[in-house]
Amino acid sequence: MIDTHCHIDDPQYAEELAAFLADQQANGVEAILVPGVDKTSVKDVLEVCDKYPQYLFPALGLHPENVKEDWQEQLQVLKAAVDERMSNSPKGVPHPIAERPISARKLIAIGEIGLDYHWDTTFKEQQHEALREQMRWAEQYDLPVMIHSRDATEDTLNILREFPTVKGVMHCFSGSHEVAKQVVDMGYYLGIGGVLTFKNCKLAEHLVGIPLERLVLETDAPYMAPVPHRGKRNESKWMWHVAERLAEVYQCSVEHVNEVTTANAKALFVINL
Ligand SMILES: [Zn+2]
Repeated sequence: MIDTHCHIDDPQYAEELAAFLADQQANGVEAILVPGVDKTSVKDVLEVCDKYPQYLFPALGLHPENVKEDWQEQLQVLKAAVDERMSNSPKGVPHPIAERPISARKLIAIGEIGLDYHWDTTFKEQQHEALREQMRWAEQYDLPVMIHSRDATEDTLNILREFPTVKGVMHCFSGSHEVAKQVVDMGYYLGIGGVLTFKNCKLAEHLVGIPLERLVLETDAPYMAPVPHRGKRNESKWMWHVAERLAEVYQCSVEHVNEVTTANAKALFVINL
């Protein structure tokens, strides 16, 4: 299985990281994708991913909660990092990801980016502009996006629709069936994590009728640990609990869930392991 969203650069994992990753790998986790959240996380994300180049894959982006007064400067620093990282692409010319050799794919995605109105809407307009700007980077480099959307579904989907050639994943999806349908109709995937295992969570019902072919697994570690580990520091191998719940929802085997969601992640992020 592939963990499509894991903040492994979090200091909580720094100690004995090698042993931690070996344990995930021994438990069926084939790869881990690591999103950035702001300019200061660039170094951490790239450093840790370059240390384990065939196991950890980096993304860079400005998380909507980090869109503040300095958002334009943040974007400048991030764009420079993205450009530098992608400079192995022939002359920086965008071309289909599938044709790009793995050694030249320095970033796996732009993310995590999006809109978040939950705690603060002071910078709502700036969030919109930051999202648009980063969608343009995805367009330029033909990279998928990792989308964070909280209490902002309609605005998020409207902005994504302005970029019909860009595809990606709605990370930590917990929306309604109607929204799930809209997202997959746009060609995006739903990132399913620990939320699915939470008691009183309606997500399982909302997924009925949504093809397994449109789902990818994720942790959002260190957050969102699934039952029975809820509240602890999350681990990628615990995605098996999420897969078990999905197997119930889709009335198939856990192995089938694993096979399909892994293939989905490999196709979207173009990972050749
Ligand atoms: Zn995240």
